[in-house]
Amino acid sequence: MGCVTTVPITHATPAGFSVNMNNRGLQDKIADKYLELRFDVMMGGGQEYFDGTKRSDKQDIFPNFKAAGFSVVRNKKEMELLEASQPVLGVFSKAGLPFSLDQHSDKELTDKVPSLAEMTETAIDLMKENKDGFVLQVEGGKVDWAAHANDTGALLYDQMAFDKAVEAAIRFAENRNDTLVIITTDHGNANPGLIKSKNVNQKFDLIQSFKHSNEWILNHIKPNDTNAAVIERIKYAQGYTIEEEEAKLLLKAYSSFENDGLYNAYKLPFRQLAQIQEKYISVYWAGMNHSADFVALSMFGVETEALPPLIKNYELHNYMLQAAGVLKL
Ligand SMILES: [Zn+2]
Repeated sequence: MGCVTTVPITHATPAGFSVNMNNRGLQDKIADKYLELRFDVMMGGGQEYFDGTKRSDKQDIFPNFKAAGFSVVRNKKEMELLEASQPVLGVFSKAGLPFSLDQHSDKELTDKVPSLAEMTETAIDLMKENKDGFVLQVEGGKVDWAAHANDTGALLYDQMAFDKAVEAAIRFAENRNDTLVIITTDHGNANPGLIKSKNVNQKFDLIQSFKHSNEWILNHIKPNDTNAAVIERIKYAQGYTIEEEEAKLLLKAYSSFENDGLYNAYKLPFRQLAQIQEKYISVYWAGMNHSADFVALSMFGVETEALPPLIKNYELHNYMLQAAGVLKL
């Protein structure tokens, strides 16, 4: 069994897949559970739940994993050298991994942190010889975080990074007759839409030349920056020139944070920047939280013929158990 994600490996999706805990927030306890579980591969972010920084007991538990026979890897190079002989814990950043968009613009991050596709390929390589087969869950978790922050560039580039991970999974499955790939999401989020306006195509195309996410912009603006500095920073990061009045509004927003998204850990004015952005890229957002929309579900490989056109999300659980041969219906 393996889980791979771009958010902390102790976060809700991998933890919900592999352990029982009465509160998703107990990520330090979830990290402890992983030690008992002895999975094949767990890779993502979340160092702070292992090294003591955010643990109630302040303990560094990485040595416990090593002592229990795990390979513990902390950067891309170490990951590439792994062999399939031991269970693997890969933790590549303090909290979530960087957004792909910011990572592509930073050589140091590109060298250190593997992409979702690279982690996926590694996990498959490590488990493909398991004699009873394997189950791997791959989560593009930061797509969700980008949506909570109304961060259009971050969202689109992380979604593309997820597509690459899908490609890696399908490349493995297409040469086999015993593998099922399921691609879906647990919910919609914040509902961004491309809304028609003058020059909408050119505006949307600007995103292709973005260098950085809104998160990067907002982390680099200081509340006492000048309007000109804010305008310059956004121009550098995303290629359009906001108005003086908008820069002023954004700076002012640093002192009032009523519109935080769920993972807005740094208390930055994400909502205000997204609203300023609307007229430059034509992307508008409905909110900053999960939605009740229908979501896409697609499958590749064996057992796909049993898939009805519409399925309730909890029904997918038994479907997967059945496909994996765990549950006979
Ligand atoms: Zn979410």
